[in-house]
Amino acid sequence: MKYQSTRNKNTEVTASEAILRGISEDGGLFVPKEFPRFSVDDIKALSGLPYGKRACYVLGAFLTDFEFDDIQECTEKAYSANFENCEPAPIVRLGEGKYIMELWHGPTCAFKDLALQILPHLLVKSKKNTGDDSSVLILTATSGDTGKAALEGFKNVDKTEIIVFYPEFGVSNIQKLQMKTQQGNNVSVCGVTDNFDCTQSFVKSIFTDEDVRSELGKYGKRFSSANSINLGRLLPQVAYYVSAYCSLVAEGEIECGDEINVTVPTGNFGNILSAYYARKMGIPIKTLVCASNRNNILTDFIETGVYDTNRNFFVTESPSMDILISSNLERLLFDMSGENDSLVSELMESLRSEGKYIVCDDMLRKIRSVFSSGYCGDETGRETIKNLFEEYSYLCDTHTAVAVTVANEYLRKTGDNTKMLIVSTASPYKFPRAVYRAVSGEDEADDFAAAEKLESLTGNRMPEQLSKLREAEVRFNNVVSRDEMRDFVLTRGRGEN
Ligand SMILES: *Cc1c(COP(=O)(O)O)cnc(C)c1O
Repeated sequence: MKYQSTRNKNTEVTASEAILRGISEDGGLFVPKEFPRFSVDDIKALSGLPYGKRACYVLGAFLTDFEFDDIQECTEKAYSANFENCEPAPIVRLGEGKYIMELWHGPTCAFKDLALQILPHLLVKSKKNTGDDSSVLILTATSGDTGKAALEGFKNVDKTEIIVFYPEFGVSNIQKLQMKTQQGNNVSVCGVTDNFDCTQSFVKSIFTDEDVRSELGKYGKRFSSANSINLGRLLPQVAYYVSAYCSLVAEGEIECGDEINVTVPTGNFGNILSAYYARKMGIPIKTLVCASNRNNILTDFIETGVYDTNRNFFVTESPSMDILISSNLERLLFDMSGENDSLVSELMESLRSEGKYIVCDDMLRKIRSVFSSGYCGDETGRETIKNLFEEYSYLCDTHTAVAVTVANEYLRKTGDNTKMLIVSTASPYKFPRAVYRAVSGEDEADDFAAAEKLESLTGNRMPEQLSKLREAEVRFNNVVSRDEMRDFVLTRGRGEN
């Protein structure tokens, strides 16, 4: 099976090449030329298997130029010991017909671990498949959780190096501490005095900068990306939607073939796009509900067909969703336009030059036949955290709270009683001040003090991965302006630091 670029269908590559390149040279994103299909019987068969095996079959269906044994080796390395109880995507029932899929039992306590624990292994196999023996330099912009998850995934992996840029004033203290204390002999971490969108677009421009590329080439290195534009991030995420459906079948909550709805707290549109891909594979998902925080550009887009970044940017209590340019939306546009690469190129050019694009009514209708949307501000989110705790003794983080709020609103608005899977993307202890404030109504300025109070209030334990940060040694204190990012990369790439 081949992969094509959203901006030029003539660019055709294998899965391994797509994973190695990260982004197409024309600026487009790689998407499958066709989608594998799972029948009801296939899904039934998968329901009897543990997570790692389910992931193996999903990945195997997409990564057709990989040896099946290699994929199995990757899923075993990624999904066994590194997740609590060897269960990367457990499902919690929360009242009638509502389920929460918890994707934060990995090393960094956010859903990005599910993709980033396996991506480095997929990259190593991709190099083997293409006969490439260069070193890979991973360049990543993070709104908080990607960076740490990528650092954990890549640390000390042979022939790889990783540089992570994060917005100095746009991530939580715990997120920052997680990155600044990162261990490993092949990692660099650097704050940028700008917001995430700006940091990400500078990373993209360094990534495609021919001079930087050729300079790195002299040192036997090539760029690759761990951002959610990389196919190697998206495909492992498809696996947990397939797995969630299988788990609901295995636990007798649904009959195989029944439809479910899914609500996803969304930023870069990667997580929810993976759900859409699972739907395209034949997983019976009816509606995908796209949940945003106060940065509700996606809500507006799904309502009106106008994607307009000329608006205020807000720093919220769900910082990993503080995004105005949702890169993976490009893949949806490609799909919904009937794979119209020139239209996608035009829309993306309009986004670049005017910060805005508009899709035609026909395409909007198609998008709205699958996607619903909604958003919620910090205060409403805090009420949801409090209500969930009081009603179900269930503690959720601020991102999950956005999803729960929007899912509830969807149910109220539509009366649709299809069973609803809500995706929970981070541990509540990753954002302890906001969660403590939501539950208790009191402020606590220090993350760790808030976490302790939250523990005694709720009886819930802070994951050890987070509590041990308190004693961890800070290894990185770099902060640069956006104009200094390129030099930072070149210096590290030359091995000068
Ligand atoms: C990254 C992230 C999101 C947003 O996911 P996208 O794939 O960018 O839409 C939501 N919640 C948390 C906790 C995250 O880390």
